[in-house]
Amino acid sequence: MSDNSGELLRELLWRSSLRIAVLDTRGCIILTSKAFRDSFSEMIKVSKDSSEMLSFSDDEGSETYFNRLVSLPPGERFSHSVRIPFSGIESAIRIETAALYSKSCGNSLFLTEWIPEEESEAISRALNEIDQRYRNLQENLPVGIYRAAEDGILQTANSALVRMMGFDSFEELQNVHLKDVWVDPGQRARMIELLRSEGSVLNYEVHLRRKNGDELIGSFDARGTFDAEGRLVHFDTIVQDITQRVQAKMELEHLARTDSLTGLFNRQHLMKRLEEEMTRAERYHRPLAAMLIDLDHFKVVNDTHGHIAGDAILISAVSRITNILRETDFAGRYGGEEFCIVMPETGIQGAGELAERLRREMEETDHILPDGRTLHITCSIGVAEAFLGNVEETISFIDSALYTAKRSGRNRVEVKTDLI
Ligand code: GH3
Ligand code: MG
Ligand code: MG
Repeated sequence: MSDNSGELLRELLWRSSLRIAVLDTRGCIILTSKAFRDSFSEMIKVSKDSSEMLSFSDDEGSETYFNRLVSLPPGERFSHSVRIPFSGIESAIRIETAALYSKSCGNSLFLTEWIPEEESEAISRALNEIDQRYRNLQENLPVGIYRAAEDGILQTANSALVRMMGFDSFEELQNVHLKDVWVDPGQRARMIELLRSEGSVLNYEVHLRRKNGDELIGSFDARGTFDAEGRLVHFDTIVQDITQRVQAKMELEHLARTDSLTGLFNRQHLMKRLEEEMTRAERYHRPLAAMLIDLDHFKVVNDTHGHIAGDAILISAVSRITNILRETDFAGRYGGEEFCIVMPETGIQGAGELAERLRREMEETDHILPDGRTLHITCSIGVAEAFLGNVEETISFIDSALYTAKRSGRNRVEVKTDLI
């Protein structure tokens, strides 16, 4: 060590806020920090050869301490407690002693740190208090908080999360397999990928399974912790239960696209879905057909049996329509007693056959009136392929087929094959 660095070390030690003294085997003081001198000047005695010695007022304690000190191998350390004056009061002081080997003086040196027990107790009390406050905060928050390892092992979770998931204890939740918690385990894998690439995720919607099997829709805010090589070690997550919010939103969306009397798509949503199907059919050169169904002489039903009976017949007629729908077909209420069925992946021939089946079923159905009487009603249907022009043009093209069916006697299917 050069003179300069020795000087620097002396200076650094002097300025340290820790109470430090460097001793040799005889208890001779080699170096101290200012903090040590300020606190323990009474412990320093000057010997005949004018070197400074460490001297305890408590002889017994001192003997034990120096016995342990001289037998301490380099690199080892020990703790020793003594009662000595500190700030004018006899206090418990812990001396942390570490043995060093100094080449320059060819002897063992001892680095000692003097820690008033009260001070360290106060610090650990304060730390405990902070820890407790942090735990209370975690426990009382209305959001779930957890830490999980990258492989899925749950390390910590607050009771809000345990309750949210419907479990009785953290241990119970910890033992559940990932595939039983995540509705789609792929969703977790995608979130981990995002955490790896972005470091965190915000408002990440997840679908989890509660203990009783119910689905919990959660919003995740998660942040990853990475090791020195950049590998994801674990991640901390705040979970909000948004099940009700999402369900209410879905309910509203459902209401916004549904006709309240019949439960079919309303006209606006029907047009939107037809447009989407037309775009898809055109892009992939797939067949697409649609039909318009109008109940025959419906005004007479209302006039004869009243509007409420008319409504009941409308609902009953719609059940005939939904009955013939295939998996990819969908239907909407286009107007008062006028309905539309859109048939993706269906050519004009298949659409015509389906329309004919519907016409026949409608004709053969006994619709039951609210007063128990039955009533027969027929419908007229216009069918066409729906892949040319825009939605309005397509509908008006099919409507012209429906008009032909009406004009030629009703209770008929008119299939229009010529192009617009
Ligand atoms: P056609 O179609 O065979 O030419 O005769 P129509 O009598 O069915 O035709 P029109 O369009 O003249 O009358 C349709 C009737 O449907 C008029 C209206 O009172 C009735 N209507 C429309 N919407 C509803 C509804 O929601 N409830 C009831 N009860 N009746 C409705
Ligand atoms: Mg009608
Ligand atoms: Mg009509």
